[in-house]
Amino acid sequence: MIYLDHNASTPVRPEVAEAMRAAVAGLGANPSSLHREGQRVRAAVEQARGQVAALVNAKPSEVVFTSGGTEGDHLALVGGAWALRARGRRVATSTIEHHAVQGAASWLRELDFAEEHLDCGPAGYVDPTAIDDLPPDTTVVSLMLANNETGVVQPVAEAAHRAHELGMRLHCDAVQAAGKIPVDFARLGVDYLVISAHKLGGPKGIGALIVREGAPLSPLFRGSGHERGRRGGTENVPGIVALGAAAALAARELAATSAHLRALRDRFEAGLRAAFPDAVVHGSQAPRLPNTTNVSIPGARADHLLMALDARGIEVSAGAACASGAVEPSPVLTAMQVPRELAVCALRISCGRPTTTAEVDAALAAFAECVPRARALTMAGGPA
Ligand code: PLP
Repeated sequence: MIYLDHNASTPVRPEVAEAMRAAVAGLGANPSSLHREGQRVRAAVEQARGQVAALVNAKPSEVVFTSGGTEGDHLALVGGAWALRARGRRVATSTIEHHAVQGAASWLRELDFAEEHLDCGPAGYVDPTAIDDLPPDTTVVSLMLANNETGVVQPVAEAAHRAHELGMRLHCDAVQAAGKIPVDFARLGVDYLVISAHKLGGPKGIGALIVREGAPLSPLFRGSGHERGRRGGTENVPGIVALGAAAALAARELAATSAHLRALRDRFEAGLRAAFPDAVVHGSQAPRLPNTTNVSIPGARADHLLMALDARGIEVSAGAACASGAVEPSPVLTAMQVPRELAVCALRISCGRPTTTAEVDAALAAFAECVPRARALTMAGGPA
């Protein structure tokens, strides 16, 4: 099988798996315990905190471990907005945010908050000047660093600057960016930033929220003072150790990884355009993650093409939601004003560190074979 779905999840790196195994086997005490064993576990947690902080250029004290990106987004948006509710009950999110952010916003709406939207242009990025027009009682603005579907990198530093001018806080979901492009918490100037281990060679179910010193945050999990009172619950020590190991490797190899991914992505897109000159790569005019291609090949519906590729051992993701034979265009592509007939043909191909040139070439050969079949099926209106 050729796995080209690294934006969905990455395989755990062997070094990370080994660090996690050693933590499961050897770090059995509670890191809050004052005895020597407890302190040994605490030291491992704090080492990982330092590794995560180094990956994103933050202070270790700003790192809060969470159960992943979804919790991080909820803690930032809900926890930030709730802490600031005396100032206003309104948040703003971009129209291309991940479900994790949308879910957090929907909870806030249930708590009688209003939600504004920052629109996305056809190129795939959000116009940060729209922040200037937000109602003044908006407290937290959410803008992701890189979109999970298109890979388009968003103008987060400018958004943070504009939000701060108006006394608002900025939350940035950097789940897809971390490990692929430099993520600099200090330079971005955001208040809350979220990463997730399983997108950078670590395990699922562990991540971190970076909270700027002094940024308001109401904890969602309470009752104990873990993570300096920001997230109650005994720490997931093996997960934290694994995240730390993955972050350290990602930081050390970032330049080489980015260059490797970019070369693969460019080779894939050049090959695809040569074979299918009518292929449309969404977001290709904007700065993008080096590993992500979101492409529509007109006439080849995403579900038909995805299944044909899967049968040939090529694993990619649909840029559209397929449910019981019906294909719905992704909200991200809809926000980019991609016509429906093109949006239902969108596939996401995302390379990773282990991807090789030979695999990209094999994927191109599979596309050449599968696209005509998918087109025939789409023409016939047949099942996926
Ligand atoms: N944010 C983005 C941009 C993502 O791509 C994802 C995962 O796909 C998440 C958040 C959720 O992260 P997790 O799977 O760790 O909950």
